[in-house]
Amino acid sequence: MVNFKEIGLVNTREMFKKAIDGGYAIPAFNFNNMEQLQAIVQAAAETKSPVILQVSKGARNYANQTLLRYMAEGAVEYAKELGWEKPQIVLHLDHGDSFELCKSCVDMGFSSVMIDGSALPYDENVALTKKVVEYAHQYDVTVEGELGVLAGVEDEVQAEESHYTKPEEVVDFTSKTGVDSLAISIGTSHGAYKFKPEQCTRDPKTGKLVPPPLAFDVLKEIEKQLPGFPIVLHGSSSVPQDEVDTINKFGGALPDAVGIPEEQLRMASKSAVCKINIDSDSRLAMTAAIRKTLAEKPAEFDPRKYLGPARDNMKKLYVHKIVDVLGSDGKA
Ligand SMILES: [Zn+2]
Repeated sequence: MVNFKEIGLVNTREMFKKAIDGGYAIPAFNFNNMEQLQAIVQAAAETKSPVILQVSKGARNYANQTLLRYMAEGAVEYAKELGWEKPQIVLHLDHGDSFELCKSCVDMGFSSVMIDGSALPYDENVALTKKVVEYAHQYDVTVEGELGVLAGVEDEVQAEESHYTKPEEVVDFTSKTGVDSLAISIGTSHGAYKFKPEQCTRDPKTGKLVPPPLAFDVLKEIEKQLPGFPIVLHGSSSVPQDEVDTINKFGGALPDAVGIPEEQLRMASKSAVCKINIDSDSRLAMTAAIRKTLAEKPAEFDPRKYLGPARDNMKKLYVHKIVDVLGSDGKA
């Protein structure tokens, strides 16, 4: 058993309070390989942005849980090497689906866990979340719960339809469970196909899909019910169309991939939303760079020659999110 403080990580408590007071949001980037982690740490260190490294159950299965945990420890040391004296780095379990998984992460040095009981009946969600909070708080590990269902696919998490969070439930849920932050559903969605074409309009000039707006009225009502309480948005990739175009140009097939417009995430960042999850955009940036390199240099077979450009492209994306969308630069 190792506590997160021993390996230089921080939990989300202070970070979220400052973000709400300061009107910005903390980036939560998923990682499951070295190049992604390098890109995240470089971007955060250069911009002096607090950052949440997220590990999903799928990532643990893919990369090995022990290896990921030591990579996160390495990330703290790497950040220091890059000149970031006191790195503000959280290691967070994304979409924990059982008490046992959350406990295992707490015991391995995670500083934050999510218990996602949103697919369960309300009372069972409360009971499970409460159990995780009681365990995690003994070690000062912060806990994110979820109310409402997001549509889309993310690793093992998937749902056909979204159900907005019911504002009338949030006070009861947070007070009964003791969670430190709450993920809500207001129209964001997992994956690179966040909306079906029939949910969107089409830009007559480009032929690209224009997604429906987020339910800011629901967010406002939740903020009214829970003043100053940290709110989390999952499924908040914007699916940059230049990356999608690059992928499609070099042999990919991502028709009608569509995400959340950055302007809406900018608005959300200024509210009680203090953590914004971004995963698909990094996958797209990586895939676009790899496809382009391999197509333009067919004789190349040194993985560093295509993973290197992929890393650079992801870093550019992370810096852009931090500086131009979430506003968390200079806050750590
Ligand atoms: Zn999610």
